[in-house]
Parts: sequence; structure tokens; C-alpha cells
Amino acid sequence: PTSSISPVIDSVFDQAVTRNPGQPEFHQALREVLDSLSPVIAEHPEYVEAGVLERLVEPERQILFRVPWTDDENRVRVNRGFRIEFNSALGPYKGGLRFHSSVNASIVKFLGFEQIFKNALTDQGIGGGKGGSDFDPHGRSDAEVMRFCQSFMTELYRHIGEHTDVPAGDIGVGGREIGYLFGQYRRLTNRHESGVLTGKGIGWGGAQVRTEATGYGAVYFAQEMLNTIGTDISGRRVVVSGSGNVAIYAIQKATQLGATAITASDSGGYVVDEAGIDVELLKQIKEVERGRISDYADRRPGSRYVAGGSLWEVPGDIVLPCATQNELDGAAAARLIAGGAIAVAEGANMPCTPEAVAAFGEAGVLFGPGKAANAGGVATSALEMSQNAARQRWSFAESEQRLADIMADIHRSAFEAAERYGAPGDYVLGANAAGFVRVADAMLAQGVV
Ligand code: GLU
Repeated sequence: PTSSISPVIDSVFDQAVTRNPGQPEFHQALREVLDSLSPVIAEHPEYVEAGVLERLVEPERQILFRVPWTDDENRVRVNRGFRIEFNSALGPYKGGLRFHSSVNASIVKFLGFEQIFKNALTDQGIGGGKGGSDFDPHGRSDAEVMRFCQSFMTELYRHIGEHTDVPAGDIGVGGREIGYLFGQYRRLTNRHESGVLTGKGIGWGGAQVRTEATGYGAVYFAQEMLNTIGTDISGRRVVVSGSGNVAIYAIQKATQLGATAITASDSGGYVVDEAGIDVELLKQIKEVERGRISDYADRRPGSRYVAGGSLWEVPGDIVLPCATQNELDGAAAARLIAGGAIAVAEGANMPCTPEAVAAFGEAGVLFGPGKAANAGGVATSALEMSQNAARQRWSFAESEQRLADIMADIHRSAFEAAERYGAPGDYVLGANAAGFVRVADAMLAQGVV
């Protein structure tokens, strides 16, 4: 890690690293956010005096628990469960649950820390949190997933609530898992408390557009960035990584807006479809059959599958990394820049390494960091909470319009904060500064808690 210009920031970073040893993803997220706050801190000594930074980097509460369950062979399995309740100055803790073999304290903390600023940017009154487990749902039967979710909720339910902490999905947690989690919460508490989880089914408290929101929002954000240089996404070649919920709906929205999205990927490899990815086929394979991206190439004439390798060898005008953290490194960024990329919007959380972010910045490529570009998902979760509280159901069209308006607001906030703090066009600094100021002002007003 490089040292920043501010000794205050360096000492906060060093203390957080000492307290959280061996957590590289969390350190990476801390470094990136803290460094970009130097100009904000320089103008606001009151934040330093009130210990806002020291308090911000320490989660309000960290829950670590055992999740025992039995597999279909009646063998007892044990996974680890996490919930990091990071900051509630702006509202109840809000953030997804990730079920993936890579989940550990570092991953959950980096995601929770990012979520504080992302959620602040949405301006929807939500604090930041994150959770999950090292459970891997791939290859597990529905019954196994259900038993796992029930066991996970048997501990988690004590810590959550519609005014306390509101989990949702993330990698490995979709509509099926939210259903099982909600069912167990309802049974344990004897409360049909709709607002305790978001991403619910449309028939039982879920919101229109929540499924589509992260991917749609990332494309809206890219569109907003392109508008600032007098162009748009239509007619553009778009390279997308991932094939989950975020990627699928990013591809769908890009296609609806007249672009051609030509790639999708999973952990085994990627497909290139120059005619444009067939979203219905992709959904069928990934959501209905829970299959692999290689199946796509088998069924779609004219497309090709590349096992392993780097998707970022495929040139495109617009780049939407929608898979996972640190999937796009400095070398990949250099190739994309040479291939003519003009804009990057992060659909995933922290998919670009610091070297990649720096390379895009130096090359003048528009770069929308995840905490701004992928905030549409959690923003629409907040709309779900509003509908649950008011016992209302909004139409798809109304919900989509609200999402588009929120993404435009987030873009404007980040754009203006970048100008205000002396780095026009730097959405990394802009998003961090705009989100931070909202949280810091609330913490200042609420005293040392
Ligand atoms: N996991 C998503 C995110 O990173 C959504 C969280 C939510 O809806 O609470 O923002």
C-alpha cells in the first residue's frame, strides 16, 4: 500500500490493518476509500476531531457463527456464518448475504465497508452491512440448500429486523435462498415481517424491478457517464463478465438501449457471441437449469466458448465487469484500453484492481466505481422496504422510473463531488467523497456512539 498525503488517514489505515491482520480485500477497500478522502478531510477538521474516521473503519458489530446442517447422505456439515453490521448512522444496516466458498472475514468486511458509502449515495436512509457463508450452493440439491438456509437463519434471526438489519442477496443468494431464509424467519418469530429481507418473490412482498435493478442500474450509470462526453451506449460493443443476476440484466438493458453485448462468463470460461448475447437462452441455462456458460455455446450457433483464459482479451467500447472482486487487473485494463474502451461501469463489487483503476484513469477512460454504478440493486431494495412498510405495490414501469432517477442522482452527486474536491471526472473520488460526507455529517450530529 502506498501512503497518502494525510498523516491522519495513514494512522487510521495502519490501526485498522493492525486490528484486522491477514485481510487483504478489506485493506484494499480501506486504502482506496481513505486515500480519496484526503481533500475532504483537509476541508473538514471537525470530522477528524470527532474521530469519524476511526469510528467508521471499525464495524459497529461483528457476528460470527456456526452453521451445522445435514447433506442428502445424512452427513453432518459445518459452515461458517458472518454478519458484519458496519454502520447504522443513516438507517438500518442493509446489505446482501454471499454464499461462496471464498467467503471469509476479509471478504465480508470489504463488502460491508463499501456498502456504507454505496448506501449513503442512494440517499434512501440505509446503513451498511454485509454477511454470508463459505457454503457453496453449486451442486447442492434444493433440499440441501433449504436445510442450510434454515440453519443459517436459526442464528441470524436474533440479529436482524426491519428497523435493525435488513439482509438481501449477493453472489450465491437469489430468490430461492431468500425464500427459504424468509420462511424460517417467519416460523421462528411468528411474524410476517416483510421488511426484514429484500429480494423476496413478487407474490409475497417482493418489489418489481429488484431482480433487474443492479444490472439495469449499471447500464444507466454508464449511460449517464457517456452523456457527459456527448455520446451514449446505442450502437456500442459491450463486454460483460459474469452470468449471474447482475450480468444477465446488464446485458438485457444494454441490448434494449441499442447496444450489442457480446460476452458472458463463469468460473470455467467465457462465451463470445458477436450477434449479441441471447438473454432468454442465458437465463434458461443459468437460472432455470443452473448450468454452465459452456452450455450456451453448445446451443447458440455462431457463438464460441473459451475455456479458462481472460475475457478481457475481447475488445469493446463499454466494459461491464459483473462477476466478482479483483477480476480485472492492470494488464487486462491495458488490453482493454488498447482495444478502444471508452467507459467502464463496475456491476460487481471491486472487480477492478487498484492498478486497473489507475490505468483507466490515466488513459481518460470513464470509470464508474461499483459503489456508485451497482447501487441500483440496494436502492431498489430500499424501495422494496418502503412498499412493505406502506403495504403498497408499485408497477414495473413506476419502479423502473424510480431506479433510473436514483441512478441519475447518484451520478450527479459523484460528478459534483469530484468537481468540488478538485478532481473533475474522477468518479472514484466523487463517489467516496459524496457518500462519506453524508455518513460523516450524520455521525457528527449523533455524537460519539
Ligand atoms: N448485494 C447487493 C449489493 O452489493 C445488494 C444488497 C441489498 O440489496 O441489500 O449492493
